Amino acid sequence: MRRRKVLAQGTVIDCPGCGRRCVVRGQPSEAERPLTRSNTTDGWCATCALARWLTTTEPVSRLVRHSGGDGVRLPHVRDQIITLMRVGNCPISADEVDWEALADRLDRKAAEYAKGGE
Ligand SMILES: [Zn+2]
Repeated sequence: MRRRKVLAQGTVIDCPGCGRRCVVRGQPSEAERPLTRSNTTDGWCATCALARWLTTTEPVSRLVRHSGGDGVRLPHVRDQIITLMRVGNCPISADEVDWEALADRLDRKAAEYAKGGE
């Protein structure tokens, strides 16, 4: 099992999911949902973290498997996700998410599922 390395504030790392540059800005908190900050080498950028949550959390993940990124391309659905993050005290702002990259990633996930993958 890989051990997480705790990083100092301001450390710049490459997201393990997409390679995007990320800056460590805070510590994880149980009060932040559905996503929280990370201060370890296991942290993800906002787009990858949101994609991971959307593809692993029922019942949302079921919708993603069938409709890919179509949902997050719809403004009213995107607004609901943003509201959910705001209500959950999530430290990620809508501006930090690359919504088109997120939609493309969810499209690929749906395509994998259609081929019989996970
Ligand atoms: Zn990423």
